[in-house]
Amino acid sequence: MRVPELDKPAARWCDHCAPDAGCRVYAGRPESCRGFRCLWLMDRRFPDALRPDRCHALVATNGAADDFVVHVDPAHPEAADAPAVRSLVAALCASGRRVYRLCGDSTVLMETTD
Ligand code: SF4
Repeated sequence: MRVPELDKPAARWCDHCAPDAGCRVYAGRPESCRGFRCLWLMDRRFPDALRPDRCHALVATNGAADDFVVHVDPAHPEAADAPAVRSLVAALCASGRRVYRLCGDSTVLMETTD
């Protein structure tokens, strides 16, 4: 995720992130980190298969009305095709939401046939 306070672009590791341990500055992390919630964090009913560190993707709103973004780990571009992710995207699309896939510098509107 982009973090304006840190000049951190999207799809790049944060300098404060320890990949196996988490945020090194958690207690003093920026406001945009404090306020961010992906759908997995927002809804306890989400399955473990959609936990971002396990599926290599996270789904969040994009700030625009009713749109969602699947942020895919560029090191795992296949993550958007995982069954759990595809099911979630299909459900969001079926409810009339637009869903975009962001992977590195690429953003595409997702369509499902599920
Ligand atoms: S929560 Fe910590 S590691 Fe993650 S982006 Fe914010 S400052 Fe960086």
